[in-house]
Amino acid sequence: MENIVIVGSGAGGASVARELSKAKKNVTIIEKGPSVKSKKAYRCYENSNVGVELLKTSCVGGATMVTAGNAVRTCQHTLKMLGVDIEKELDEVEKDLNVNALPDSHFGEGTKRVMDAAESLGFEVQKMPKFIDPTLCKPCGKCAFGCPNDAKWTGSKYVEEVKRYGAKVVDGTPVTELMVQDGKIAGVKSGEREFPADKVILASGAIETPKLLQRAGLNAGENLFVDTFVTVGGMLKGIKFNKEVQMNALLKHGDVVLAPHFSEILVDKLQGYGAKTEDILGIMVKIKDEASGTVMGDSVTKYSTAHDVELLAEGSAIAGSILTEAGVDPRTLTSTLARGAHPGGTAAIGSVVDKNLETEISGLFVADASVFPQAPGAPPVLTIVALAKKLGKYLIRD
Ligand SMILES: Cc1cc2nc3c(=O)[nH]c(=O)nc-3n(C[C@H](O)[C@H](O)[C@H](O)COP(=O)(O)OP(=O)(O)OC[C@H]3O[C@@H](n4cnc5c(N)ncnc54)[C@H](O)[C@@H]3O)c2cc1C
Repeated sequence: MENIVIVGSGAGGASVARELSKAKKNVTIIEKGPSVKSKKAYRCYENSNVGVELLKTSCVGGATMVTAGNAVRTCQHTLKMLGVDIEKELDEVEKDLNVNALPDSHFGEGTKRVMDAAESLGFEVQKMPKFIDPTLCKPCGKCAFGCPNDAKWTGSKYVEEVKRYGAKVVDGTPVTELMVQDGKIAGVKSGEREFPADKVILASGAIETPKLLQRAGLNAGENLFVDTFVTVGGMLKGIKFNKEVQMNALLKHGDVVLAPHFSEILVDKLQGYGAKTEDILGIMVKIKDEASGTVMGDSVTKYSTAHDVELLAEGSAIAGSILTEAGVDPRTLTSTLARGAHPGGTAAIGSVVDKNLETEISGLFVADASVFPQAPGAPPVLTIVALAKKLGKYLIRD
């Protein structure tokens, strides 16, 4: 039987592994990071400043371990125009991940105030769809640290499942090189250790995947986007918003999305006002940024363009007026630095991979956020999982 090696166990890697191992394919996942309990995932952040602060984690489950559980359909129309129809897979993924808004019991005072204030200012606000099990979720504000109750979907849950189907999982092992023979993939290497394979699926994320492709002579690494965001916030004494489910509501405004969000950075910035963690109310302003970044070897750069700054300023102005209406002292309004947690685009469909996610090297595929043609400007996990599922089906048929 043919050997399939999957590099990385995040949103894309874990999902394609599940699809293939369920169909009894011979699958090995090779993951750079360690296996960690969900509540310890915060130890695996590998942030870097590349012009914006880039957030990512390296562990079994990848960045899915620290998501806010937001589950929004995105990019499906752009993908359809490129010949990749994922509507059916999105339906399946929403079912698999039990996507739903959380019940009212999971909405805290801060979130309700933001929603009411936004509505009173004429904005349309919706409850955020989540892949969080409300029966397990005890609101604590710790989603981005790793859920203490394992209440949200993560790639590591799929990794546990694929082990039961017989797949092999090798963690703590960074893939350093691809083995290619006569234009065909032959396996991967981690240092001196070789893993022969008939097919290889790269899912090491949009920063690491292009580096491996470049080392194999492919032209990847341009077109990096990150869905740049800032968190705007200020003081509302005793609101205890830091203990609420984060990003539990969604406001869409063109290429900007807003969601209630706490950031510790705001507490530090408001020390002069005697701010404590329980006194901050904030809103994340996230934009569909221009794909102006690059990954070239170990050098990663992503600066905000004039258009990005314009969108961030527009969103921040809206956030400021909502927060003021919600009761925040306007003199204390401030913002974090620009950050990004959705890197993608560096092996885009139509330029680095074809519509079946295959590269020019026969048998070498990509199944992570690298293949997005443009920034989603919204949570990408559902779309990554749907694309990975579609690739799995294609390889099973193949
Ligand atoms: C704090 C935070 C909150 C987020 N919240 C949400 C949310 O609520 N909803 C949403 O949709 N999205 C959210 N995201 C974004 C989402 O998590 C990512 O877009 C998604 O996980 C990317 O999937 P991926 O498969 O491209 O990469 P990843 O999930 O990052 O997986 C890549 C994996 O590859 C491994 N790897 C890297 N290099 C190698 C190598 N050389 N060899 C072997 N393995 C390697 C990594 O360790 C990692 O496990 C959030 C991200 C962050 C950081």
